[in-house]
Amino acid sequence: MSLTAILAQSITEAEPLRALTLWQPWASAVAQLGKNIENRGWLTKYRGLVLIHAGASIDRRAVQQMPRDLEMPAKAVLAVARISDAHSDCDGRCSRWAMPGFHHWELADVVPLTEPVTVPGAQRLWTPKEALRRRVADALPANTSASFVAA
Ligand SMILES: [Zn+2]
Repeated sequence: MSLTAILAQSITEAEPLRALTLWQPWASAVAQLGKNIENRGWLTKYRGLVLIHAGASIDRRAVQQMPRDLEMPAKAVLAVARISDAHSDCDGRCSRWAMPGFHHWELADVVPLTEPVTVPGAQRLWTPKEALRRRVADALPANTSASFVAA
């Protein structure tokens, strides 16, 4: 079974799965630019697979600091990742994406989807419905990195 097939099975069946709605450009930064810290005002105990979802909101100041060619779809899942850990009381030195004064959710093993999967978002960590899980699994790239499955 290919690594992509294993990940697809995790998304559709086996694993607990959550989704996280981010403002743009932050969702695209996770999917495309290696943003590995999500800055939140609250801490999570959830560890595991998470869909990175772009909401309808845009941080216009942040957009100015992003590459001009960064695509920023709205209301769509852009990537699959893993919340590997979360920490507090950090001065922001853990990552260039970390902001002081926030809790830092650590994102690992980001797999960008081949195309955005359109769906409305929700608040906090939300649970994707089965139909969405299948659509995301169908949008996985043919070759998924080995680190995802080994983790
Ligand atoms: Zn940190």
